[in-house]
Amino acid sequence: MMSETEFAGDGAAGIETRFSSGVYKKREITIVRGAGARVWDSEGKEYVDCNAGHGVAVVGHCNEAVVRAVSEQAARLMTCSETFCNDVRAELLSHLASVMPGDLDRFFLCNSGTEAVEAALKFARLATGRTGFIATMRGFHGRSMGSLSATWEPKYRRPFEPLVPGFSHVPFGSTAALEEAVGPDTAAVILEPVQGEGGVHAAEPEYLRRVSEICGENGALFVVDEVQTGFGRTGRMFAIEHSGAVPDIMCMAKGLGGGIPVGAVALGSRVGPIPTSVHGSTFGGNPVACAAALATLGFIRDADLPGRAAKLGEYFVARLKSIRSPLIRDVRGIGLMVGVELKQRSGPAIQALMDRGVLALAAGATVVRFLPPLVVDAGDLDFVANALEEVLATVYA
Ligand SMILES: *Cc1c(COP(=O)(O)O)cnc(C)c1O
Repeated sequence: MMSETEFAGDGAAGIETRFSSGVYKKREITIVRGAGARVWDSEGKEYVDCNAGHGVAVVGHCNEAVVRAVSEQAARLMTCSETFCNDVRAELLSHLASVMPGDLDRFFLCNSGTEAVEAALKFARLATGRTGFIATMRGFHGRSMGSLSATWEPKYRRPFEPLVPGFSHVPFGSTAALEEAVGPDTAAVILEPVQGEGGVHAAEPEYLRRVSEICGENGALFVVDEVQTGFGRTGRMFAIEHSGAVPDIMCMAKGLGGGIPVGAVALGSRVGPIPTSVHGSTFGGNPVACAAALATLGFIRDADLPGRAAKLGEYFVARLKSIRSPLIRDVRGIGLMVGVELKQRSGPAIQALMDRGVLALAAGATVVRFLPPLVVDAGDLDFVANALEEVLATVYA
């Protein structure tokens, strides 16, 4: 037996340091409670949460509608595999179909972003009988072997090579490179309409429309990864809607479950029926997860979170652009998916923001990324911008 004194630190931090795998670089605070756009640590300190669990908390922490739906469903039926039908799952599927762009109206339910991407890759292979995939430089699609093969960042890929064969990467935004790369072996092109991990880079609408056409002309499918951009984050329900391009497959996760793990893949008419038993998930379509997602979608609609993200995002980006600091290289944003690119590494700024009561994320080495809950208000965003202004004026001095 291990005694308390052998832990590397106090409380949860010490225990996590001792007993977790080591794959996460942990920050020093222990978060114990959340409400709306705020979280609190074990010392009672309050934060405006622009990390939001990597953008998961779209409807806010402990959203009342989601809490109620989860509690009620947990007391009624907590598990039911997709071998059987389920009332709440059926309701979720039809609600999802009603919010999808284009002809996306059939779904595979899973539990995370990477699982959604894995399923999309398998379905694209099945539907086309081809094995080639084209992804984009700086793209991020997850960390299991298939999705990692689509992910660009060498530091994530290298330790695990050889990966799945058939993947190539082209510059994000270049139609010429894509035309060159797509061929008779291409099952699909996969990309994020706004690259998240890669540094908050939004694709030009014209580019996305051309990607869709190039796929169509070559018998390949267009897969959009909306795991981070979906459910109002960018000011539309889905980021692809800014372009009017219609994908054949869409991957979703993060915000969908209101904080409960849920992922989904949507299929359009160019993807035929998926044969029985070729894919599956034990937890996929779980009734508690479905109840959470249904309540989340209802809240997003009733509170017009996409409209709110569009308006507040514009306000926030304008405020950030007004910061006069020689350290800022660029401010980029679409809705409430916002990146501030520095001329220095972003790590010290993110740490100093935390000390001032703001949680943010990195995106690559030099970008500070803000993914606040879409229920955040203008006052919170002022607080965040003021904190960043202070941090840039002092921390790198
Ligand atoms: C987070 C993310 C993923 C992976 O999701 P997990 O739930 O962590 O597996 C995939 N694609 C994009 C665009 C993401 O932002």
